[in-house]
Amino acid sequence: MASSFPSVSELVAGARHQYGKVFGEEAPLVAVCAPGRVNLIGEHTDYNQGFVLPMALPLVTVVVGSKTSEQDVTVVTATKDVDEPVRVDFSLPSDGSPLSPGSPSWANYVKGVIHHYRAPPVPGFRAVIASSVPLGGGLSSSASLEVAVYTFLQQLKPDDGEKVAKALSCQQAEHTHAGVPCGIMDQFVSVLGKEGHALLIDCRSLEATSIPLTDPELVILITNSNVKHSLTGSEYPTRRRQCEGAASILGKASLRDATMKDLEEARDKMDDVTYRRARHVIEEIERTVQAAESLKKGAYREFGRLMVESHNSLRDLYEVSCKELDELVSAAMEVEGVFGSRMTGGGFGGCTVTLLQAGAIDKTILHIKERYNGTPTFYVTTPSEGARTLSLS
Ligand code: ADP
Ligand code: MG
Repeated sequence: MASSFPSVSELVAGARHQYGKVFGEEAPLVAVCAPGRVNLIGEHTDYNQGFVLPMALPLVTVVVGSKTSEQDVTVVTATKDVDEPVRVDFSLPSDGSPLSPGSPSWANYVKGVIHHYRAPPVPGFRAVIASSVPLGGGLSSSASLEVAVYTFLQQLKPDDGEKVAKALSCQQAEHTHAGVPCGIMDQFVSVLGKEGHALLIDCRSLEATSIPLTDPELVILITNSNVKHSLTGSEYPTRRRQCEGAASILGKASLRDATMKDLEEARDKMDDVTYRRARHVIEEIERTVQAAESLKKGAYREFGRLMVESHNSLRDLYEVSCKELDELVSAAMEVEGVFGSRMTGGGFGGCTVTLLQAGAIDKTILHIKERYNGTPTFYVTTPSEGARTLSLS
């Protein structure tokens, strides 16, 4: 009943076909992919140096292509829903000057990654992009695109292979070329995701612990609300600033270093909004650590309870949910066999993630469909591997 999505090999086949149509007979020599992600818990904590608990998805962005002898780049995206045109041509600056952002805006992710690639200069290339990650749905199609392009460049001209540094370069690409001041979670898990595991990432030390997540009795269901409210763009940087403001009032480098006791003691030094934003972050960091412990023990009920607390906090304190996401979470929680459910990703639309007993999947999907005032898309997912090269034979 859940949505099926194209397999990696189907995406590669489609991209190869497209490559042939655009560039003629010559077959592409390189194929890579990088996954989107779902965050199980730990929302809006990464840019506060806190903990997050995402897993890489079987939904991926694929790049196929070849190096050329010129200093020109041509990229075609086979993915719909991007701003037109779907083909972009540009020259690589020969004097090391920056590759400036421009239009179409989707190409800025590619340009940003070229600009921040760790073994410059990048050679010219032709490539086709194809993806099964829904765009702008909170499953990080953006990081999967950045990491896929970076992995592609590694095949053309290898860097030192340092994975955390790779994730940081892709994050820089999103900052400077897409204008999104994102944390490190998305790029980190897209690079370092591990099949059959969620990753507890410490966004301060950039160390990750992998937690097995292969219980056949457990299902991770993603529900796409298929709404995207226009607030997203402006609200994210605002939240970031509010957190930095709170940390500065508390005299801390980041909210990671603050406790609820610190916050309560300083409550009269800040406005109510700042207080609530900081409280969400401080408590969410703690919840994420607890949730990771619960998952290790197979204590799914406890994990689910923390997911719902996280959702409520994002709704009431951090104010990044919306009625559609609230509706999806409420509907899921009405079904027996559901452990927990919450919004995932930046908010104001996009997806929820629900943890449930395998036997309850059909009735959960039915119930959500019945209750939701919109048309949801469902993905039953398993934790997958991070970015990798693919065979073209
Ligand atoms: P999310 O990362 O949650 O999917 P974002 O708004 O951060 O949402 O990123 C979505 C943007 O990333 C798209 O609007 C587009 O510019 C770019 N993008 C993602 N995947 C692709 C793709 N396959 N082809 C072209 N652009 C893409
Ligand atoms: Mg994104």
